[in-house]
Amino acid sequence: MHGSSNRSRRSPQKMLMIPSREGNEDRAPNEIQRANDDCGGRIYAILEALHNQYLEADLGNLENPVDELVYISLSRQTHYQNASRSWKAVIKIGGPGRLVDMEEDELADLLKPSGFSRQKARWIKRSLEIIRDRMGILSLDGAEIWSDDELEHFLQSLPGISIKSAKCIMLYSMGRQVLPVDTHVRRIATRVGLVQEGLSEHAIHLALEDVVPPRHRYSFHVNCIWHGRHICTALHPRCSNCILQELCDLGQCIRHVATGAAA
Ligand code: SF4
Repeated sequence: MHGSSNRSRRSPQKMLMIPSREGNEDRAPNEIQRANDDCGGRIYAILEALHNQYLEADLGNLENPVDELVYISLSRQTHYQNASRSWKAVIKIGGPGRLVDMEEDELADLLKPSGFSRQKARWIKRSLEIIRDRMGILSLDGAEIWSDDELEHFLQSLPGISIKSAKCIMLYSMGRQVLPVDTHVRRIATRVGLVQEGLSEHAIHLALEDVVPPRHRYSFHVNCIWHGRHICTALHPRCSNCILQELCDLGQCIRHVATGAAA
């Protein structure tokens, strides 16, 4: 395996080149046209507002795609603290490279803190075996020359890896400009009005990738997760404190209701 097996920062927070709403010099013409067609150009205002607030939120993602794959598998259907406990146990025995040749029962014991440990042990062991068989080594370095479609198709063929998980590995650890849609991204995108409600997992990935320009997908994704955890929460969104309220369909509705009630 290459790289570190520690759960480390992907990169320091950094300033992004977000184009101004007035100036077109940093926008490819097709990006401007698409954004204008699909959501009235609002996407650039949303990107800018999120960037001004958070730069690029650091979610502590892993640099090594095999590490990220194992961590994402551990994170399914559990709180991140439980996944972290299992991840620490994996690191303690030498990292994901040690898991592939373990007995499934032994691996399930190791992964107990993350829950569903039998299923996760089976998924992780099989995924690592498939990667080693395909690449000749337990590494995804050789996949760097693959196209996005080829890479996504391969990752989704691994047990327990959904569309979102495949895109997370690609975005966080392989520098691909894809857009994973998790619960926070979905909630904010629908409330703001970038996509309609109730889309399937496949459809919402297509719809949002059509709206968010490729080079802004990483910042949009991590900033939506941060914003969704702290401001636009599922049950009690803090619209009056939200930097997106002027741009948000639901936020505007809530404001009008509040204004009407006060009048
Ligand atoms: S205005 Fe309210 S609903 Fe809209 S993004 Fe902000 S917190 Fe969420």
